[in-house]
Amino acid sequence: MSASVDEAIRKAAVLNAVRHNGKADAGAVLGNLLGENPSLKPKARELMPTIQRTVNQVNATTLTQLNQEASEKWPADLTREKPEEARKLPPLPNAANYQTIVTRVAPNPDFVLHLGNARAAILSHDYARMYKGKFIVRFEDTDPRLKKAQLQYYDFIREDLKWLGCEWDAEYIQSDRLPIYYEIAETLLRMNAAYICECKPEQWKALVTAKKACPDRELGVSTQIQRWQKMLNGGYNEGEAVYRVKTELSHPNPAVRDWPGFRIVDVNKNPHPRVGSRFRVWPLYNMASGIDDHELGITHVLRGKEHLTNMARQLFLYRHLGWKYPDAVHFGRLKVEGMNLSKSRMMKALEAGEYTGIDDPRLGTLAALRRRGYSPQAIRQLMWEVGPKPVDVTISWDNINAINRKLIDPTSHRYYFVPDPITADISGVETNMEVHPALHPQYPEMGTRTLTLRAQNGATKLLLSGSDRTTLATGATVRLMGLFNIQTLGFRDGELSAKRLDESGEGENVPILQWVPAGDSVPVRVVLPDASDVKGFAEVGLGKEAVGSVLQFVRFGFCRIDEVDSAKVTLYFAHN
Ligand SMILES: [Zn+2]
Repeated sequence: MSASVDEAIRKAAVLNAVRHNGKADAGAVLGNLLGENPSLKPKARELMPTIQRTVNQVNATTLTQLNQEASEKWPADLTREKPEEARKLPPLPNAANYQTIVTRVAPNPDFVLHLGNARAAILSHDYARMYKGKFIVRFEDTDPRLKKAQLQYYDFIREDLKWLGCEWDAEYIQSDRLPIYYEIAETLLRMNAAYICECKPEQWKALVTAKKACPDRELGVSTQIQRWQKMLNGGYNEGEAVYRVKTELSHPNPAVRDWPGFRIVDVNKNPHPRVGSRFRVWPLYNMASGIDDHELGITHVLRGKEHLTNMARQLFLYRHLGWKYPDAVHFGRLKVEGMNLSKSRMMKALEAGEYTGIDDPRLGTLAALRRRGYSPQAIRQLMWEVGPKPVDVTISWDNINAINRKLIDPTSHRYYFVPDPITADISGVETNMEVHPALHPQYPEMGTRTLTLRAQNGATKLLLSGSDRTTLATGATVRLMGLFNIQTLGFRDGELSAKRLDESGEGENVPILQWVPAGDSVPVRVVLPDASDVKGFAEVGLGKEAVGSVLQFVRFGFCRIDEVDSAKVTLYFAHN
């Protein structure tokens, strides 16, 4: 068989597996292969053994590795496959009015993405794919003072998006685009649609509350342009002048009335992480975001309903400039039970040293979920379920974990782990024994592990889980998983004595405990969701798993290997 046919089979198998929770199907692989390579049709029969062999190999590989292989070798095919799944989403409003649907996600790089903003990212991306449109990432980093961007977060966010499978077609950074905003600012001033306000904040507040114009509002265009130049040239200090967009002073929401478009930032005190102190006049959120949605041809904006007031503000800008506002979909709040997803709260706590980092297991950041072994596909499915509904939604961890379990279970190798171990001395074992439990009980093709019991003076030493201590009371009969039954004889100096029971089979109504050989084992530390940890031992086979693998510790739960060093394997707990 030629190398190119082998490669085509590999591609069809990996892509099929990636789309089906890590399990490729030989028949489907053949179909896809022939679909892409019709010239192979006469050879279908003789290709089958190679396809079957490749499917077996692929199905024995973890989903993480398959996703990695697919995104490295066939990234275009990977994203092309997504629209099919995204068809579960309701249609976008007025989609037929546009030749190309363009969506965007617009994170402020002052923090990483979390479960809350994953929704806008996934929905925006998946809608763009569903309509074969364009998905844009726009970093909104124009507040060097209060919501100051930090360099590392641009890359962290890119990593988060890639992990979510939200590959973008174009990227923009607002701090590169100040000249564009300045140009439009001047246009608006010349149109008498904006003005430079020198009012003190309390003076402004009194006027706007009373629906009254400030004296600056009606000054002539030439004065406005002079003041704008003065802003740009450093003639004002921070806080001495604000650029305002004219609205209706009678607007029912005072926050909409003549909203601020630009302000001066003392960039010597607060330099921007990317452009330093090059600019001192910075657009506020609605100015930069509003201009960019138009300039970048965004057709649909998907975001939380907390942006409704922003839309009301931006509509005035669009009306002044004769632009058409994108179709906007505002969804309700997404709450996760028992978790605070407020970015400012997380940032504050992180700065105060309450967390070990952005991927601390207690956080709802994507980095934390990734570290714990959640599948990005689980986050995607969750967001499809929630969709762009305008009502508030509260999801529970049980809900998230149930989705994730379905995705990771078929590819997670099984291992025994004994937390807080008890040594058991078991008599009645005359010779060394090997047992070979399956790496996955439902998928024997994944292979087996090997556990070796060493016999010495008619006995062997095993480690059992400390949490089974009460089950191991004197006289109890328990089954050691995949091994034999034992009867406990009591604890002496903390060590359990037990004897092997002969002729004891499976299926008896006795507790079944996991175990590891006392000598042949790997020290393990598992970091739990509350950041505490459990220490114990796992079987030696664990040492063959790569960092990043997600596996299941039997009777314990799903964990992801985080770090391997000479002393121990550290894992993060996902859920049981
Ligand atoms: Zn004023």
